[in-house]
Amino acid sequence: MHDTIDILGVHIHKCTMAEAEDRVMGFLSEDRPHMVFTPNSEIIMVARKNPVFLDILNRADLLTADGIGVVYASKILKDPLSERVAGFDLATRLLSRAAESGHTVYFFGGKPGVAEQARDKLTEQYPSLQVIGTQNGYFDDKKEADIIADIQAKQPDFLFVCLGAPKQEQWIAQHADTLGARVLIGLGGGLDVWAGVVERAPEWYQRRGLEWLYRLMKQPSRIGRMMALPKFALTVFFRGKRVKKAGSGAAKEG
Ligand code: UDP
Repeated sequence: MHDTIDILGVHIHKCTMAEAEDRVMGFLSEDRPHMVFTPNSEIIMVARKNPVFLDILNRADLLTADGIGVVYASKILKDPLSERVAGFDLATRLLSRAAESGHTVYFFGGKPGVAEQARDKLTEQYPSLQVIGTQNGYFDDKKEADIIADIQAKQPDFLFVCLGAPKQEQWIAQHADTLGARVLIGLGGGLDVWAGVVERAPEWYQRRGLEWLYRLMKQPSRIGRMMALPKFALTVFFRGKRVKKAGSGAAKEG
C-alpha cells in the first residue's frame, strides 16, 4: 500500500488527523525545516495548470486533504483517504500541543491587526502558548526583508503563513531553508478564524461535507473560485476512468 495517493498529480498523504498531528510534532525533533500544506480541490486545480506550483506542493513533508472534495476524489479513484484533515483543525491541534510542550509559534499573514488579534484570543484560551512574533501579510520588498529578518532572529518552532494559496506555498518554498523555522505551514484564512474576523462553518455543515456551501453563503463573491469544485470532480472522474482503461490494457497512467 502506498503512503500517498495521486490526485491529479498532487500526492496527498494518507493519514488520519491524529497521525498528521503526530507526524508534524515528530518533525520538530529533526534538524531541518519541514513544509506542511493542506490543499483543497481548488488548489489542486491551480496546480494542474502550474507545474512549478505542483512541484512545490509535492515537495512538502506533509500534504493533507483539506477539503471534502479531495476525500471524494480519493473514493472515485478507488483508493479512499480515511478522513479529511482540514488545515485549520490540524493547526488548532498543533497550537494546543505547542502550548503543552512549550514550542514557539509565529503568525504571518492576514490584514493588519489580525495576527495580533488571533494571538490575543489564543493566549486567552491557551495561557502557556508562546506566540513570539506576528506580521501582517501585506508587504513590499523592504517590509518583506524586515519580516524575514525578524523570523530569522526568533527562529520559531512553528511558522504559520496565511497569505492565501498559492502565494503562501510559494513563499514558504522560497524561504524555508533560510528562515530558521522548523515547521512551516500554509494556512490560508486560518488567522482570520482564530482572530474571530471570519466565522468557521458550524459543525452541522462540517459533518455533512458542506463547509464550502456555508462559505459560499457567507461570501457569495467566492462563486468564481468555487466553480473549480465541479470541474475538479469531473476531471477526477474522467481521469480515473482513463487510468482504469489503460490499466486493463497496457501501461498505467502515472
Ligand atoms: N492575504 C494576505 N496577503 C495577501 C493576500 C491575502 O495576508 O497578499 C490573506 C488574507 O488577508 C486572508 C488570507 O490571506 O487572511 C487568505 O484567505 P482565504 O480565505 O482567501 O484563503 P484560503 O483559506 O481560501 O486559501
